[in-house]
Amino acid sequence: MTALLQTIDLNKRFGGLRVTNNVNFELDEGEVHCLIGPNGAGKSTLFRLFLGEHSPSSGRILYAGEDITHLKPFQRIRKGISVKFQVPGIFAALSVRQNLTIALQHHLEGASLDEEIARLLEFLRLTASADMQAASLSHGQKQWLEIGMAISLKPRLLLLDEPTAGMSPDETYETGEMVRALNADGVTVLAVEHDMAFVRQIAQRVTVLHFGQIFAQGTVAEITANDAVAEIYFGHVDHD
Ligand code: ADP
Ligand code: MG
Repeated sequence: MTALLQTIDLNKRFGGLRVTNNVNFELDEGEVHCLIGPNGAGKSTLFRLFLGEHSPSSGRILYAGEDITHLKPFQRIRKGISVKFQVPGIFAALSVRQNLTIALQHHLEGASLDEEIARLLEFLRLTASADMQAASLSHGQKQWLEIGMAISLKPRLLLLDEPTAGMSPDETYETGEMVRALNADGVTVLAVEHDMAFVRQIAQRVTVLHFGQIFAQGTVAEITANDAVAEIYFGHVDHD
Protein backbone atom coordinates (compact mmCIF):
# COMPACT_ATOMS: atom_id res chain seq x y z
CA MET A 1 0.00 0.00 0.00
CA THR A 2 1.22 3.48 -0.85
CA ALA A 3 1.53 5.80 2.16
CA LEU A 4 -0.60 8.94 1.98
CA LEU A 5 2.33 10.97 3.24
CA GLN A 6 5.95 9.86 3.21
CA THR A 7 9.22 11.64 3.92
CA ILE A 8 12.53 10.38 2.64
CA ASP A 9 15.68 11.43 4.50
CA LEU A 10 14.07 14.77 5.28
CA ASN A 11 16.37 17.43 6.74
CA LYS A 12 15.76 21.03 7.74
CA ARG A 13 18.51 23.26 9.07
CA PHE A 14 18.21 26.82 10.33
CA GLY A 15 21.78 28.10 10.17
CA GLY A 16 23.78 25.58 12.16
CA LEU A 17 20.70 24.15 13.89
CA ARG A 18 19.44 20.80 12.56
CA VAL A 19 15.75 20.93 13.37
CA THR A 20 14.67 17.98 11.24
CA ASN A 21 17.22 15.21 11.12
CA ASN A 22 16.94 12.50 8.45
CA VAL A 23 13.27 11.87 9.05
CA ASN A 24 11.78 8.85 7.29
CA PHE A 25 8.13 8.98 8.19
CA GLU A 26 5.09 7.22 6.72
CA LEU A 27 1.48 8.05 7.32
CA ASP A 28 -1.05 5.47 6.11
CA GLU A 29 -4.22 6.55 4.38
CA GLY A 30 -7.15 6.37 6.79
CA GLU A 31 -5.26 6.44 10.07
CA VAL A 32 -5.26 8.87 12.96
CA HIS A 33 -1.64 9.33 13.94
CA CYS A 34 -0.29 11.47 16.78
CA LEU A 35 3.09 13.17 16.76
CA ILE A 36 4.44 13.76 20.24
CA GLY A 37 7.76 14.94 21.65
CA PRO A 38 9.24 17.57 23.96
CA ASN A 39 9.07 21.29 23.15
CA GLY A 40 11.54 22.18 20.43
CA ALA A 41 11.64 18.61 19.05
CA GLY A 42 10.73 19.93 15.59
CA LYS A 43 7.04 18.98 15.38
CA SER A 44 5.74 22.32 14.07
CA THR A 45 8.68 22.57 11.66
CA LEU A 46 7.70 19.20 10.23
CA PHE A 47 4.15 20.50 9.68
CA ARG A 48 5.50 23.57 7.87
CA LEU A 49 7.58 21.26 5.67
CA PHE A 50 4.47 19.17 4.95
CA LEU A 51 2.47 22.23 3.88
CA GLY A 52 5.40 23.77 2.01
CA GLU A 53 5.83 26.86 4.17
CA HIS A 54 9.43 25.74 4.63
CA SER A 55 11.47 24.00 1.98
CA PRO A 56 13.70 21.21 3.21
CA SER A 57 17.50 21.51 3.27
CA SER A 58 17.51 18.04 1.72
CA GLY A 59 15.26 15.05 1.28
CA ARG A 60 11.85 14.53 -0.26
CA ILE A 61 8.16 14.55 0.62
CA LEU A 62 5.72 12.27 -1.19
CA TYR A 63 1.92 12.61 -1.06
CA ALA A 64 -0.12 9.67 -2.37
CA GLY A 65 3.06 8.58 -4.12
CA GLU A 66 3.64 11.92 -5.85
CA ASP A 67 6.74 14.00 -5.10
CA ILE A 68 5.42 17.31 -3.69
CA THR A 69 8.74 18.55 -2.29
CA HIS A 70 8.80 21.58 -4.54
CA LEU A 71 5.09 22.41 -4.66
CA LYS A 72 3.84 25.66 -3.13
CA PRO A 73 1.42 25.61 -0.18
CA PHE A 74 -1.62 26.51 -2.34
CA GLN A 75 -0.81 23.63 -4.70
CA ARG A 76 -0.63 21.22 -1.75
CA ILE A 77 -3.90 22.59 -0.32
CA ARG A 78 -5.56 21.95 -3.68
CA LYS A 79 -4.39 18.35 -3.47
CA GLY A 80 -6.20 17.95 -0.16
CA ILE A 81 -3.67 18.85 2.56
CA SER A 82 -5.11 21.17 5.21
CA VAL A 83 -3.44 22.43 8.39
CA LYS A 84 -4.57 23.95 11.63
CA PHE A 85 -1.45 25.61 13.00
CA GLN A 86 -0.62 26.45 16.61
CA VAL A 87 -0.91 30.16 15.82
CA PRO A 88 -4.53 31.30 15.30
CA GLY A 89 -5.63 31.95 11.73
CA ILE A 90 -9.17 33.24 12.22
CA PHE A 91 -10.58 36.72 11.57
CA ALA A 92 -11.08 37.97 15.12
CA ALA A 93 -13.26 40.98 14.17
CA LEU A 94 -15.74 38.87 12.18
CA SER A 95 -18.47 36.58 13.49
CA VAL A 96 -18.15 32.80 13.57
CA ARG A 97 -20.59 32.61 10.64
CA GLN A 98 -18.62 35.16 8.61
CA ASN A 99 -15.38 33.27 9.20
CA LEU A 100 -16.92 30.02 7.97
CA THR A 101 -18.52 31.79 5.00
CA ILE A 102 -15.12 33.00 3.85
CA ALA A 103 -13.63 29.54 4.27
CA LEU A 104 -16.47 27.74 2.52
CA GLN A 105 -17.47 29.90 -0.38
CA HIS A 106 -14.98 28.47 -2.86
CA HIS A 107 -15.42 24.87 -1.84
CA LEU A 108 -19.10 24.11 -2.15
CA GLU A 109 -20.25 20.83 -3.63
CA GLY A 110 -23.98 20.52 -4.03
CA ALA A 111 -25.36 21.82 -0.76
CA SER A 112 -26.13 25.53 -0.50
CA LEU A 113 -23.82 27.77 1.48
CA ASP A 114 -26.41 28.23 4.27
CA GLU A 115 -26.92 24.47 4.64
CA GLU A 116 -23.21 23.81 4.64
CA ILE A 117 -22.58 26.48 7.29
CA ALA A 118 -25.38 25.13 9.49
CA ARG A 119 -23.95 21.62 9.21
CA LEU A 120 -20.45 22.82 10.00
CA LEU A 121 -21.62 24.96 12.96
CA GLU A 122 -23.36 21.95 14.44
CA PHE A 123 -20.34 19.72 13.93
CA LEU A 124 -18.14 22.35 15.64
CA ARG A 125 -20.53 22.75 18.60
CA LEU A 126 -20.79 26.43 17.62
CA THR A 127 -24.44 26.78 16.52
CA ALA A 128 -25.36 28.92 19.54
CA SER A 129 -22.31 31.13 18.96
CA ALA A 130 -22.74 31.59 15.20
CA ASP A 131 -23.29 35.34 15.37
CA MET A 132 -20.72 36.08 18.06
CA GLN A 133 -17.53 37.87 17.15
CA ALA A 134 -14.70 35.33 16.87
CA ALA A 135 -12.63 37.44 19.28
CA SER A 136 -15.17 36.90 22.05
CA LEU A 137 -15.24 33.09 21.81
CA SER A 138 -13.67 31.00 24.55
CA HIS A 139 -10.20 29.69 23.86
CA GLY A 140 -11.55 26.21 23.09
CA GLN A 141 -14.25 27.58 20.77
CA LYS A 142 -11.60 29.53 18.83
CA GLN A 143 -9.72 26.28 18.31
CA TRP A 144 -12.92 24.65 17.05
CA LEU A 145 -13.50 27.51 14.63
CA GLU A 146 -9.95 27.00 13.37
CA ILE A 147 -10.61 23.32 12.89
CA GLY A 148 -13.74 24.39 10.99
CA MET A 149 -11.69 26.63 8.71
CA ALA A 150 -9.31 23.74 8.04
CA ILE A 151 -12.02 21.15 7.33
CA SER A 152 -14.09 23.49 5.15
CA LEU A 153 -11.42 22.75 2.53
CA LYS A 154 -12.65 19.12 2.54
CA PRO A 155 -9.15 17.76 3.10
CA ARG A 156 -7.96 14.23 2.45
CA LEU A 157 -5.17 14.85 4.97
CA LEU A 158 -5.76 17.04 8.03
CA LEU A 159 -2.77 18.21 10.07
CA LEU A 160 -3.60 19.54 13.54
CA ASP A 161 -0.87 21.29 15.54
CA GLU A 162 -1.81 21.17 19.23
CA PRO A 163 -5.57 21.30 18.63
CA THR A 164 -6.45 20.98 22.33
CA ALA A 165 -3.94 23.45 23.80
CA GLY A 166 -5.62 25.42 26.59
CA MET A 167 -8.87 23.42 26.42
CA SER A 168 -10.83 22.08 29.38
CA PRO A 169 -11.06 18.26 29.68
CA ASP A 170 -14.64 18.39 28.33
CA GLU A 171 -13.62 20.51 25.33
CA THR A 172 -10.65 18.20 24.73
CA TYR A 173 -12.96 15.19 24.73
CA GLU A 174 -15.37 16.90 22.27
CA THR A 175 -12.41 17.69 20.01
CA GLY A 176 -11.46 14.02 20.08
CA GLU A 177 -14.99 13.09 19.04
CA MET A 178 -14.75 15.56 16.13
CA VAL A 179 -11.49 13.96 14.99
CA ARG A 180 -12.99 10.48 15.22
CA ALA A 181 -16.04 11.56 13.19
CA LEU A 182 -13.82 13.13 10.51
CA ASN A 183 -11.74 9.98 10.38
CA ALA A 184 -14.87 7.81 10.09
CA ASP A 185 -15.69 9.99 7.06
CA GLY A 186 -12.37 9.03 5.49
CA VAL A 187 -10.09 11.90 6.52
CA THR A 188 -6.53 10.91 7.45
CA VAL A 189 -5.37 12.87 10.50
CA LEU A 190 -1.94 13.69 11.87
CA ALA A 191 -2.06 15.59 15.17
CA VAL A 192 0.65 17.10 17.35
CA GLU A 193 -0.56 16.59 20.88
CA HIS A 194 0.63 16.64 24.48
CA ASP A 195 -2.48 15.37 26.24
CA MET A 196 -2.09 11.57 26.45
CA ALA A 197 -5.79 11.06 27.26
CA PHE A 198 -6.58 12.72 23.94
CA VAL A 199 -3.93 10.65 22.15
CA ARG A 200 -5.49 7.52 23.65
CA GLN A 201 -8.94 8.67 22.50
CA ILE A 202 -8.01 9.24 18.85
CA ALA A 203 -4.72 7.65 17.78
CA GLN A 204 -4.12 4.33 16.09
CA ARG A 205 -0.37 5.02 15.98
CA VAL A 206 2.04 7.40 17.66
CA THR A 207 5.40 8.76 16.57
CA VAL A 208 7.77 10.31 19.11
CA LEU A 209 10.04 13.04 17.79
CA HIS A 210 13.17 13.99 19.75
CA PHE A 211 15.85 16.44 18.56
CA GLY A 212 14.37 16.33 15.07
CA GLN A 213 14.58 12.55 14.82
CA ILE A 214 12.06 9.74 15.04
CA PHE A 215 12.76 8.35 18.49
CA ALA A 216 10.00 5.74 18.75
CA GLN A 217 6.89 4.63 16.92
CA GLY A 218 4.04 2.32 17.84
CA THR A 219 0.54 1.96 19.20
CA VAL A 220 -0.52 4.17 22.11
CA ALA A 221 -0.06 1.21 24.47
CA GLU A 222 3.45 0.53 23.17
CA ILE A 223 4.48 4.17 23.47
CA THR A 224 3.09 4.69 26.97
CA ALA A 225 4.88 1.50 28.12
CA ASN A 226 8.19 2.59 26.54
CA ASP A 227 10.67 3.54 29.29
CA ALA A 228 12.98 5.39 26.89
CA VAL A 229 10.07 7.67 25.91
CA ALA A 230 9.30 8.39 29.57
CA GLU A 231 12.99 9.27 30.03
CA ILE A 232 12.98 11.99 27.37
CA TYR A 233 9.83 13.56 28.85
CA PHE A 234 10.53 13.32 32.56
CA GLY A 235 14.22 12.48 32.82
CA HIS A 236 13.23 9.38 34.76
CA VAL A 237 10.97 6.37 34.50
CA ASP A 238 7.93 6.38 36.73
CA HIS A 239 6.12 3.06 37.15
CA ASP A 240 2.86 3.50 39.00
P1 ADP B 1 8.09 21.93 18.41
O1 ADP B 1 6.90 22.28 17.58
O2 ADP B 1 8.38 20.47 18.47
O3 ADP B 1 8.03 22.52 19.79
P2 ADP B 1 9.56 23.59 16.50
O4 ADP B 1 9.46 22.86 15.22
O5 ADP B 1 8.66 24.76 16.69
O6 ADP B 1 9.39 22.56 17.72
O7 ADP B 1 11.04 24.09 16.71
C1 ADP B 1 12.14 23.20 16.69
C2 ADP B 1 13.42 23.98 16.83
O8 ADP B 1 13.60 24.76 15.65
C3 ADP B 1 13.45 24.97 17.99
O9 ADP B 1 14.74 24.94 18.54
C4 ADP B 1 13.15 26.28 17.33
O10 ADP B 1 13.74 27.34 18.05
C5 ADP B 1 13.81 26.12 15.96
N1 ADP B 1 13.13 26.90 14.90
C6 ADP B 1 11.87 26.74 14.49
N2 ADP B 1 11.56 27.60 13.49
C7 ADP B 1 12.69 28.33 13.27
C8 ADP B 1 13.03 29.36 12.35
N3 ADP B 1 12.14 29.84 11.45
N4 ADP B 1 14.29 29.87 12.41
C9 ADP B 1 15.18 29.38 13.31
N5 ADP B 1 14.93 28.40 14.19
C10 ADP B 1 13.70 27.86 14.18
MG1 MG C 1 5.15 23.28 18.01
